[in-house]
Amino acid sequence: MMTGYLLARAGVEVAVLEKHADFNRDFRGDTIHPSTLELMHELGLLEEFLKLPHQELRELRAVMNGHVVPIADFSHLPTRCKFIAFMPQWDFLNFLAERAKRFPTFSLHMEHRVTDLLFDAGTELDGLKPSSSRSARVTGVRATAPDGERDFLSALVIGADGRHSIVHERAELPVQEFGVPIDVLWTRLSKREGDPKQSLGFFQGGKLLVLLDRDDYFQVGFIIPKGTFDDIRARGFPAFHAEIAEIAPFLHDRIAELDDWSKIKLLTVQINRLRHWAREGLLCIGDSAHAMSPAGGVGINLALQDAVATANLLATKLRTGPVSLADLEQVQKRREMPVRLIQRMQVFVHRRINGRASGRRDKLQFIGRIFRWFPFLRRIPARFIGLGPRPEHIHSPSAF
Ligand SMILES: Cc1cc2nc3c(=O)[nH]c(=O)nc-3n(C[C@H](O)[C@H](O)[C@H](O)COP(=O)(O)OP(=O)(O)OC[C@H]3O[C@@H](n4cnc5c(N)ncnc54)[C@H](O)[C@@H]3O)c2cc1C
Repeated sequence: MMTGYLLARAGVEVAVLEKHADFNRDFRGDTIHPSTLELMHELGLLEEFLKLPHQELRELRAVMNGHVVPIADFSHLPTRCKFIAFMPQWDFLNFLAERAKRFPTFSLHMEHRVTDLLFDAGTELDGLKPSSSRSARVTGVRATAPDGERDFLSALVIGADGRHSIVHERAELPVQEFGVPIDVLWTRLSKREGDPKQSLGFFQGGKLLVLLDRDDYFQVGFIIPKGTFDDIRARGFPAFHAEIAEIAPFLHDRIAELDDWSKIKLLTVQINRLRHWAREGLLCIGDSAHAMSPAGGVGINLALQDAVATANLLATKLRTGPVSLADLEQVQKRREMPVRLIQRMQVFVHRRINGRASGRRDKLQFIGRIFRWFPFLRRIPARFIGLGPRPEHIHSPSAF
């Protein structure tokens, strides 16, 4: 959506295809980072954007074995907004879509599921499957829409279709997988009077429970060792309830709301990266190019930064004609370093969270003590999470 907004703003004709009928889904984070708020300011949208209901998190805290530990202090960031805005992502996407529709070159096609890529017909003549020859040009996408199948021809296809990307799969771009030892159970619990007023991570003996405050309820993420959901179900609800209430005791009075396994979704966590983010006529960005885990809550920021870099590098060229593979590769060149750094951090965090499997349960406690003793150290995670390495700024032109 952000790439679509920026390209349309630059006068490039854009069609954004979204498979769902709306953006109202739970399975994404709610974090709008200081770097994103800075981008909104650069686009002249910040004031209007902050009128949407949100919470401002100036300090990120975790509860480690019952002790509240400040982890990241955003108050020293060199940005206008020194906080993370917590806002359901559908509000953010609807806001961007609404603003993008004001550009005459923008169109949004909801309920359009991309099912395949279209390739330059000429390349089929060599007897090669077009997708397997990297020189075969992608010329568009095929999508299933409410009124049947539709082909969209385009000078450039941008795959921003997330961690189960059909675009990178059909393009046969090789993926490098990094083992992830965790999955996430994703559910909801009601809020009560006297509950903590902000979103929190609870660490307890190598286990992690995340509560996202969504105003009238908590979105709950419970980290489990990969492949253990069946065991958890087999042990039954009493054991599951006890495990959660031990980590966050104040949930004890409502944990019985989780009384049916259909209320609990298993989200498989992945970390991977494409070796090549582009081929002729196609570029992948965001999770489609590099699936991020929820660790650190930075995947949304990275996807948005990719979007800005893409528009900065390609908007002017796209306005006048097609872009070459070398042009597309510039995006990977620009964004790969931040992605590598953050994925490395996520792999490190996973090893620590998975402490119950590896037996290193004391590690997080030690890190917690360090953050309590040396407040200035909280600026490091604040920078990493709030800005990320190599923050982008809007340089793509505005045609309107
Ligand atoms: C449980 C969980 C919690 C997370 N929490 C956070 C967090 O708090 N903060 C954070 O920064 N990151 C978080 N992340 C990571 C973050 O969700 C991703 O890194 C980020 O959403 C990537 O953005 P994206 O735009 O590339 O992909 P997505 O946000 O996945 O968006 C892809 C879009 O493409 C659409 N789509 C998919 N396939 C098709 C198709 N075939 N045709 C048409 N449309 C299609 C989807 O419906 C979706 O709208 C979390 C991840 C998980 C798994």
